[in-house]
Amino acid sequence: MRTVDLRSDTVTQPTPAMREAMANAVVGDDVMGEDPTVRRLEEMSAERLGKEAGLFVVSGTMGNLVSLLAHCGRGDEVILGDAAHTYIYEQGGIAALGSIHPRVLPNQPDGTLDLADIEAAIRPDNIHFPRTRLIAVENTHNRKGGVVLPPGYMAAVGALAKRHGLRLHVDGARLFNAAVALGVPAAELVRDADSVTFCLSKGLSAPVGAVVCGSDEFIQEVRRARKVVGGGMRQAGVIAAAGIVALEQMVDRLAEDHANARRLAAGIAPLPGIDLDLASVQTDIIIFSLHRPDMTPEQLVETMGRRGVLFFPIGGDRLRLVTHYGVDESDVDYTVAQFCEVLAA
Ligand SMILES: *Cc1c(COP(=O)(O)O)cnc(C)c1O
Repeated sequence: MRTVDLRSDTVTQPTPAMREAMANAVVGDDVMGEDPTVRRLEEMSAERLGKEAGLFVVSGTMGNLVSLLAHCGRGDEVILGDAAHTYIYEQGGIAALGSIHPRVLPNQPDGTLDLADIEAAIRPDNIHFPRTRLIAVENTHNRKGGVVLPPGYMAAVGALAKRHGLRLHVDGARLFNAAVALGVPAAELVRDADSVTFCLSKGLSAPVGAVVCGSDEFIQEVRRARKVVGGGMRQAGVIAAAGIVALEQMVDRLAEDHANARRLAAGIAPLPGIDLDLASVQTDIIIFSLHRPDMTPEQLVETMGRRGVLFFPIGGDRLRLVTHYGVDESDVDYTVAQFCEVLAA
């Protein structure tokens, strides 16, 4: 039986080119700043995002944590969305380890935070209040179905931050998906951001890692923060080498994942009980709800799993499918056929 693993784009395997680059990587002690492969990945990343410097970190979670640790002191406040990955899926690490106070605003269906909501949430100077330091947005927005925040919004939220003397962090775990979907350079999306994290180990298919980018001064602070959370790595060029291949070879092909997601979404949207807004399928993520008297989302996941199609329920009546390098068009057609058999009225 065929297996189509749509649980996440993190299940991607390193490509043969990555394994070869990993085997041949020239390495050194990166805590001492002596790993040329890590440095090359960091420089390439910074250049791609139009920033001065980059820092290789273990994961997207670590990238967001160390960025926020560098931006905010004890009791400082970050404005972020109620559906943000940092708010929901990172164990509250910014509070647990950073004493950073989250000010949570509703994420709109398009993944944005309403600019008027942000303005209203910024604290005036008053001894009773925490100090607002940072605005954090997510692009693409995972929980909102991989939707893309366009350059106009990113510029507007950046301008708002500057007007109020605040910093802007972008959780760009899938920033390159956004750039490819929009047909704009990734740098254009983060021009007004003070820091950005992007993941190498999702659609870009590297086995491990994320990169934080920002100014030279900021990255020095992030390097300290990475060390205190145990993220200083030694001969990390062995894994950074795969990240270099990811940036060189795996960015443009994300368009295939997006086309496969659209094909899959269009195939299952008409089925009885599926509620799927095709306009929300902008990149590699499909979120839909199931409304059936005869089947819960968990039962659908179990039934489809027996047919080799793997995916997750994400709470309530909602489910998520993610396309990636390990899923091709014939896998999509197989998946649609299985959904049709299982859900045909
Ligand atoms: C996956 C993800 C992260 C965290 O990445 P890990 O490498 O899994 O720690 C952060 N933000 C968003 C939006 C993500 O989807």
